[in-house]
Amino acid sequence: MWTEVEVMIDNRRVPNGPQTILGPAGCGPDVAALDEVADATIITLDEKDERLPRLLNLLKERGIRWFEKRRDRFTDEELQAARLLVMEYGSLEGKIFGGPRVGTKYDMSEACSRCGAGARQTSALVVEADELRHLEGRRAAATCYEDMLVDERLAGALAESGATGLEFRGVFAAFEKRGHFQLPYRQLCATHVMPRMSPRSTGIDLSQPCPCGRSCFMTYNRTPARLAYRAADLADIRDVNVTWEWYGYSKYNGDVYDSVLPYPLFLVTPKVWRIYRDAGVTGFDWLPIRVVDA
Ligand SMILES: [Zn+2]
Repeated sequence: MWTEVEVMIDNRRVPNGPQTILGPAGCGPDVAALDEVADATIITLDEKDERLPRLLNLLKERGIRWFEKRRDRFTDEELQAARLLVMEYGSLEGKIFGGPRVGTKYDMSEACSRCGAGARQTSALVVEADELRHLEGRRAAATCYEDMLVDERLAGALAESGATGLEFRGVFAAFEKRGHFQLPYRQLCATHVMPRMSPRSTGIDLSQPCPCGRSCFMTYNRTPARLAYRAADLADIRDVNVTWEWYGYSKYNGDVYDSVLPYPLFLVTPKVWRIYRDAGVTGFDWLPIRVVDA
């Protein structure tokens, strides 16, 4: 395992352009990427890379603000040995917009009335037709809200593998005025909700908690996210599970079709990871959970 640091610089804040920092810091295209949408430069380095202090010192010296995030990375052997893996989609090419505001239907009868956590999807997944480019050439992807998409062949491979705890829904693109059009993708859904994670989880931000205690969790901060579960929590796991906790931003005032719903994270066994890997899927982060005593 190693820890990776992502340093994000707003290009508009760097007089004469980011190259004036990247050059002296020794950060070439192997570690620096342009995020065109955000007009930002993203530099990804091993926490122990000597270029990291050099880069941060240059930014400090020039009075340029930056954002910093850390995440753990693992070898295939470490992923293979994990009990469960958090599966998150973080492709730089972007995530497709989908969910309640595009026409996906939900039952809110058991959801939190303040944050919408616990919303139960009752229809096929609907995604925004204007953003289909995010799916081009991809065998698996996700919406902005971690709804998981797999192409039909990958859905077939998952079904045939005998993996437990999964079901599939159809995926439709919503065209303004022209209605819905079915896509050659399936939404991967989990039938099993994990117990609450252990309080020994770290790097999970909960700055504005909802009183229900179930939402507003965030991963991917200055300290790496490390989800912990007790051994007893794993007694009933399936190959595909979702967390009890719901993550991400929430905006819900009772009208689900005008809301931003939080979402649970997917926790899968290495069996599922292997099927994705063997299909050549890229763009996902896989994070082993930690098994703790309490
Ligand atoms: Zn809530």
